[in-house]
Amino acid sequence: MNTCSICSLKVSNHEDIYCSNHLKAFNNLKKHYEIWNKAFGGLTWVEYLNKLLKLNETGSWVREVICTEMRTVG
Ligand SMILES: [Zn+2]
Repeated sequence: MNTCSICSLKVSNHEDIYCSNHLKAFNNLKKHYEIWNKAFGGLTWVEYLNKLLKLNETGSWVREVICTEMRTVG
């Protein structure tokens, strides 16, 4: 049984690296990235994550996913 990369909660699908809460946040991130990428005319994943971190509206689930993604990307 895999565990979430962030909170160590058990993950039901062994292909997932996040629990359902963090996966939901991650999927939202990806969905909005498409929109932002078009709006800004080419935004890298890391640039996008950096922008989100500066926003007050960004929730704590999303922030945790962002920090983990940043570590993964380098
Ligand atoms: Zn989690």
